[in-house]
Amino acid sequence: MLNILRHITQEVNAASGLQDALEIIVRRVRDAMGTEVCSIYLRDPGEERFIFRATEGLNPEQVGIASLAAGEGLVGTVAEREEPLNLENAETHPNFRFFPDIGEESFHAFLGVPIIHQRDVLGVLVVQQAQRRRFDESEEAFLVTMSAQLAAVIAHARVTGAVLADARSASAPAKIGGVPGAPGIAIGTAVVVSPIADLYAVPQRMVDDRRAELSAFRHALYRVREDIEAVADNLGGELSREDHALFDVYLGILDDSSIGREVVSLIREGHWAQGALSQVMIEHIRHFERMEHSYLKERAVDVKDLGTRVLAYLQDSDKRETQFPEQTILVGEELTASSLGEIPRERLAGLISVRGSGNSHVAILARAMGVPTVMGAVDLPYTRLEGRDVVIDGYNGTVHLNPRPDVLAKFEEVLVSDRELNKDLEALRDQPCITLDGHRMPLWVNTGLMADVTRSLEQGAEGVGLYRTEVPFLLRERFPSEEEQRQIYRNQLQAFAPRPVTMRTLDIGGDKALPYFPIEEDNPFLGWRGIRVTLDHPEIFLAQVRAMLKANAGLGNLRIMLPMICSIPEVDEALELIHRSHREIIQEGIEAEMPLIGVMVEVPSAVYQARALAKRVDFLSVGSNDLTQYLLAVDRNNARVADLYHSMHPAVLQALRLVADAAHAEGKNVGICGELAGEPEGAVLLLAMGYDILSMNATSLPKVKKALRNVNLIEAKSLLEEVVTMDDAAEIHHRLESFLATHGMEKFIHNPVD
Ligand code: PEP
Ligand code: MG
Repeated sequence: MLNILRHITQEVNAASGLQDALEIIVRRVRDAMGTEVCSIYLRDPGEERFIFRATEGLNPEQVGIASLAAGEGLVGTVAEREEPLNLENAETHPNFRFFPDIGEESFHAFLGVPIIHQRDVLGVLVVQQAQRRRFDESEEAFLVTMSAQLAAVIAHARVTGAVLADARSASAPAKIGGVPGAPGIAIGTAVVVSPIADLYAVPQRMVDDRRAELSAFRHALYRVREDIEAVADNLGGELSREDHALFDVYLGILDDSSIGREVVSLIREGHWAQGALSQVMIEHIRHFERMEHSYLKERAVDVKDLGTRVLAYLQDSDKRETQFPEQTILVGEELTASSLGEIPRERLAGLISVRGSGNSHVAILARAMGVPTVMGAVDLPYTRLEGRDVVIDGYNGTVHLNPRPDVLAKFEEVLVSDRELNKDLEALRDQPCITLDGHRMPLWVNTGLMADVTRSLEQGAEGVGLYRTEVPFLLRERFPSEEEQRQIYRNQLQAFAPRPVTMRTLDIGGDKALPYFPIEEDNPFLGWRGIRVTLDHPEIFLAQVRAMLKANAGLGNLRIMLPMICSIPEVDEALELIHRSHREIIQEGIEAEMPLIGVMVEVPSAVYQARALAKRVDFLSVGSNDLTQYLLAVDRNNARVADLYHSMHPAVLQALRLVADAAHAEGKNVGICGELAGEPEGAVLLLAMGYDILSMNATSLPKVKKALRNVNLIEAKSLLEEVVTMDDAAEIHHRLESFLATHGMEKFIHNPVD
């Protein structure tokens, strides 16, 4: 059974489009179950009807014509109830509806199962048989399993179908859901970044200069031939003549008379060389993979290897030529910080990443840079988007392809209003962050890159609440030496002096792996990360702390902060190491002050031990990104559960309150440096809870300042009292939005445009 399932899914995955996929499903399922009929009905999103889309056994002429509403007939009943219907004799069911032209009168047994993707009923999969009998349990289980497996493939194929429709046709708009990554609207042209030499991630692109593409392809082939011949020569002495002949067969695959010819003919039709190569190679790989004979199946690996080698050469020669349009929307399967570095900032309008979510580090970077971003757009057929007009709504996490003119006009309006708002906010740059009733709230920034420094100072930051020291570690090929670190930290401290700079000790693990220090674990967020790594490697920790202390000499604005603390002994151990470093440096004759030391509260155990922690250190700082992830058991990077990740969940709010009260009970300062601090709604609540410092990305700072300057502390406190009685994050969110709207901040609220 498992094999059959796997085979069908593979075949459907390889289908050329939605209709092809549906036809494969009905044919294969009918064969596998030995029934006489298998059909699929899919919901038409525009009309909310279930349309007869594919069949084996019923009248094919009714495909695309017959349809039912939810609740209508047996198919509509399955869709409405969202559960299987297994009937010995369909006609006797009260909801049975007779369709004269579909040709089902001779089939009595009926089994229908809903096709559901992420709670959305996409359609119904039905098998029918003439014999009056109930399908047995294992048949029902098979169809349910099949349908669950195929739902994602169908959802994906549906979007792909819409995207592949004529780009100029206004009738084919497509909206693909993702997760908000960085706020803002961007209207621009898609440029797809493909990971190095991945045949499956090559964007399809049409070009005018076919001759140049042909010559690039021929050149790449030539280089691959040379490489392989060199390998064959190197092995010369160890190979028999027959073995040697294998290399000739290998090279023959790319000959003009076989695969090579197909690539050339696609290039002649106007495809760019990379796209033509990937299309042809993927087709051949699939062909070999489907073969039963294991020797032939293995050839798929050879074809893939050759294709990848040619692609690598093509990418090499194209790299130098990528032209970025003026409003580039960078699209990729998994965008990384380094992919952002390749494009000039003034041309970068927006980002779309198929994987990851709003709390992935690339999204945090995008927010810091002020680039509207959508993450986790899992159904986006991103390789087909090259050169397409795209709108992204970073507020709501949606991507719009071929938007209707009225929708486009609305997005343009939002863009204009955002620009006006930004101008308004610029005027606040030198104003203090002070509430209407005179309460002062220090607004600090989170930094990592050197570019953050200028932006932060421009926005009027009063200090750095989180300097992510792992960023300079990530950008290198080995651990930076103590002296290299000292210089980096010195630059940061000097740039902000006399304002305080809070440096967090190395926080790697989780989703932050150093290329030269890989950590592979099944559950990285519950594994070796943050302080756990550095306490196990005191040599790394000591070098970092020494570098920080030395960099602070003569400036005195350093604060040190420890990430991922989950128990008291970790703090005691870290403090001991810090004191030891300090003593050593003094002995070396350097005048180093002892900085303030703080602990990050980002796991639930630290919330409950906040008082004991506060007793030991000078300040606490809440990392609400991780705290939310650990309190709600929702992976901050997983788009599938992104709608469960609420930093304003009642449990998170209670935890935030507990931490603030615990710190104050010990007479210590408490700040917050998670993304919640950078949301106007969050900032109002944190103000009410008594947080002493809000630290956020530089781009959010003016908005938060504006929000806090528009409220009274007293009012914020009563809002907090009201909100903590609410049981549901969505209700809390609504209440906060209406609060902002009645306090002159309606422009901060962005509802979906359509
Ligand atoms: C946090 O977890 O809230 C935090 C500020 O740290 P990071 O996002 O770097 O994990
Ligand atoms: Mg964290």
